[in-house]
Amino acid sequence: MTQAHLYRGGRHEAESAPGRVYRCCACRNSDGRQLGARCPKLSNARHGTWAFAVDLPSLDRRRTMRRTGFATKAEASAALAHVD
Ligand SMILES: [Zn+2]
Repeated sequence: MTQAHLYRGGRHEAESAPGRVYRCCACRNSDGRQLGARCPKLSNARHGTWAFAVDLPSLDRRRTMRRTGFATKAEASAALAHVD
């Protein structure tokens, strides 16, 4: 119920592989920066593509692996499941 929880990310998803599946797109704002998952048009289901991001523990620091361009959430989830 606490709003703070929504922004912690990750910890809540213990049921499956650690990682996030989300939609993003290549729209840019007036500064030329990509909006990514923050594009307001993403409320339209046909806008953008699916992507995943997963934190990969490495020897001295964490790396985040990202892949974008999946047509469906299922595809992105399947690809995420194959990341080891
Ligand atoms: Zn967009």
